[in-house]
Amino acid sequence: MQRIKIADLLRSNEIGKTFTVKGWVRTRRGNKQVNFVALNDGSGINNLQIVVDMNQFDESLIRRITTGAALSVEGELQESQGSAQKVEILAKKIEILGDCDPEKYPLQPKKHSLEFLREIAHLRFRTNTFGAITRVRHAMIFAVHEFFNKKGFYNIHTPIITGSDAEGAGEMFQVTTLDLDNLPRDEKDKIDYSKDFFGKPTNLTVSGQLEGELAALAMSEIYTFGPTFRAENSNTSRHLSEFWMIEPEMAFYDLNDNMDLAEEFLKYLIQYALDHCMDDLLFLSKRQQDEEKNKKEADRSIELIEKLRFVLENSFVRLTYSEAIKILENSKPNKKGKFQYPIQGFGTDLQSEHERYLVEKHFKKPVILTDYPKEIKAFYMKLNEDNSTVRAMDVLFPQIGEIIGGSQREEDYEKLVKRMQEMNIPEEEMWWFLDTRRFGSVPHSGFGLGFERLMLFVTGMTNIRDVIPFPRTPKNAEF
Ligand code: ATP
Ligand code: MN
Repeated sequence: MQRIKIADLLRSNEIGKTFTVKGWVRTRRGNKQVNFVALNDGSGINNLQIVVDMNQFDESLIRRITTGAALSVEGELQESQGSAQKVEILAKKIEILGDCDPEKYPLQPKKHSLEFLREIAHLRFRTNTFGAITRVRHAMIFAVHEFFNKKGFYNIHTPIITGSDAEGAGEMFQVTTLDLDNLPRDEKDKIDYSKDFFGKPTNLTVSGQLEGELAALAMSEIYTFGPTFRAENSNTSRHLSEFWMIEPEMAFYDLNDNMDLAEEFLKYLIQYALDHCMDDLLFLSKRQQDEEKNKKEADRSIELIEKLRFVLENSFVRLTYSEAIKILENSKPNKKGKFQYPIQGFGTDLQSEHERYLVEKHFKKPVILTDYPKEIKAFYMKLNEDNSTVRAMDVLFPQIGEIIGGSQREEDYEKLVKRMQEMNIPEEEMWWFLDTRRFGSVPHSGFGLGFERLMLFVTGMTNIRDVIPFPRTPKNAEF
């Protein structure tokens, strides 16, 4: 008999019909007459209740139905007497597909801390929380592609191994096949990279943008969605060493078009989650409230679904970096010395504490900051007339801080070369990038959305290690 997924069965109302389900046992409880087994196969947050008439089965078989064991069950769908579910399966045949020794199984039918679950990331998919996160993550990936496909953007695979170290977004991981214990040296005793796999030093990419720009300047609108790597030793709850980034790049878009797209995109993703993941979001909302119940009222997050709706219903506030600095300078925490990094006028690189102050305390809405000082932004951003600021835009979200970073790009060859010289970026290595400005250059813009930052926002989780299946962080590459 063909297997039906539990989520589909729970939606079904074919009472009296026989079905086969397969999955993993979450719990078994009951008495001498009847046992209730909660079965989950990952298709949804809700378990299927299997009713086991103890007179119909061998005790030896029932003893093997332990938390974590895998079962195949054939039985009849019936209306449930219990209030927790509408329907349940009355078991006719039970087959143990995989035993699970309860003495040794690390996951007990109780609440485990997120820290502990990170240590058993190979098993945490089997918890309600990670089941929900996995499904929401999938839905968000799908929604990203749907959004851009509907808009006529082309998906581009940009290289993961890069030969340029000019991407400028931070420290990189080197890729090499050289024997580190026995490095080839040239006459000057420098490492001889001509002997390396690619004949030159290579790294893992920190961004697909530069190659994305090449495609946009022919295809008009493209996006990348790939893994990016940063070898920064920033052990925070918002940074991973390996994370996924979505980077649209659009010819003929100025900074305003870019901001409009970013806002529309984020709202689309959030709406998609509300439309397609409500069961999981309700679970995650309750989880968050439980987690915070010991906190003071003022420190509690707003309810997850309310928070998501709030973003949909409000326009993002748009203001310049200079205006933001004035607000921050005059803010209470700055005057009282409460910021870890005090605001030191124009030129201060904003930290997440400042970003969150603007969003959570001052405006109480998502904020897009524009026109940052050129010194604290990348070389490829378009210089403003004032010669001191660039056409950058960062989208700031509650709880997260920066969720998107983007800009209008410098399309003028001379100005771009000048910026590269000022920032010590070797022109020779970037000849291909500069060529786009020599041959049919046009105004264009783009941005990068950190996929796991989006996931933090949508799920209400607070640590980025908990929204990616296998986190990579400094000193941690298990699984
Ligand atoms: P931050 O200042 O928060 O470290 P950034 O300015 O270095 O970020 P960008 O280079 O602008 O980040 O990258 C674009 C987007 O990628 C960011 O807006 C953020 O959403 C995400 N991002 C950046 N670094 C990380 C990281 N280490 N882990 C997860 N997401 C990241
Ligand atoms: Mn940024």
